[in-house]
Amino acid sequence: MTANTLPNPATKVLPLLGRSQAELTEWVESQGQPRYRGKQLYEWLYEKGARSLADITVFPKAWREQFAANPTVDFGRSQIHLHKQTRDGTEKFLLKLADGEIVETVGIPTSKRLTVCVSSQVGCPMACDFCATGKGGFQRNLAKHEIIDQVLTVQEVMQQRVSHIVFMGMGEPLLNFENLMGAIAVLNKDIGIGQRNITVSTVGIPNQIPRFANEHLQVTLAVSLHAPSQQVRAQVIPSADRYPLIALMDDCREYVEITGRRISFEYTLLAGVNDSAEQAQELAYLIRGFQSHVNLIPYNPVTDADYQRPTEKAIQTFVRVLEDARIAVSVRRTRGLEADAACGQLRGQHTK
Ligand code: SAH
Repeated sequence: MTANTLPNPATKVLPLLGRSQAELTEWVESQGQPRYRGKQLYEWLYEKGARSLADITVFPKAWREQFAANPTVDFGRSQIHLHKQTRDGTEKFLLKLADGEIVETVGIPTSKRLTVCVSSQVGCPMACDFCATGKGGFQRNLAKHEIIDQVLTVQEVMQQRVSHIVFMGMGEPLLNFENLMGAIAVLNKDIGIGQRNITVSTVGIPNQIPRFANEHLQVTLAVSLHAPSQQVRAQVIPSADRYPLIALMDDCREYVEITGRRISFEYTLLAGVNDSAEQAQELAYLIRGFQSHVNLIPYNPVTDADYQRPTEKAIQTFVRVLEDARIAVSVRRTRGLEADAACGQLRGQHTK
């Protein structure tokens, strides 16, 4: 590639977003610019959210114009395809990537926090029966910069610093391990989001939970359990056939041993499927003695899925059984329900 041609995607020139300060400095020098501009570029990219060289007003005009006419590298930012605000303050985004694929991202403000629910893949291969993303099939993994970009975009549009990140958008993060790790490192080190404020949610992939534990991060691991028995779990999660509940729980135990951190078990309550008092008992038995927390998510209705949201009474009974068994439990109340809040739903409607 000569300096004056656009990078061909086939040559895999990495975009600037996702690069370290040292790598950015190297690039700046390769463009015939002084070293100190590397630090400026780093600050503008990660703190000010610059989308192109033209945005960086401390750079010489001649360089900015020359770059605009002949970009030698991509910044790695997406385009906002759709932005929807809901009455409760949640803001949903569909972001268009360089190859035209669309991903969903949600910004959830609460008093002093701004949480971003990020996607790790375009679509998802896990095909969980109650999940909107699972119904849409799988396209590809997201690159590191495409994960980071979601956070910068929400920060820019909502004009508030992002404080928390949950990998609970589209996709299965542990199937995109390297890019997940790369993105977490940048979000933490270069954007300043504390590891303790980051949660990675997984439905469980063989070998990946111990692998994640061995990264020794301070990040919270959430495991989508959804059932207290193999039989019910396999009914809603096809991949449970290949990775039975017993093996998953063994890996969770290993995770706790390696990291000393507790696990957050997510449990989507589906009326008549997994929401009975007996199943709450069974769940309490399954995770007894475990350093954990249970996060109940009343099912959020999705088109094409044949499930019902449990009644308030069933939810409260489920909670009480767990509390009586001294299990830490909370109920996640879905916000922004009227704007198709469950991740994956908005994209499903806008790409049909
Ligand atoms: N693949 C990861 C991230 C998925 S989304 C995982 O499975 O954990 C984060 C959580 O939302 C998961 O626990 C998922 O099961 C849950 N979820 C998906 N669709 C839902 C729906 N319609 N209602 C309630 N929870 C849902």
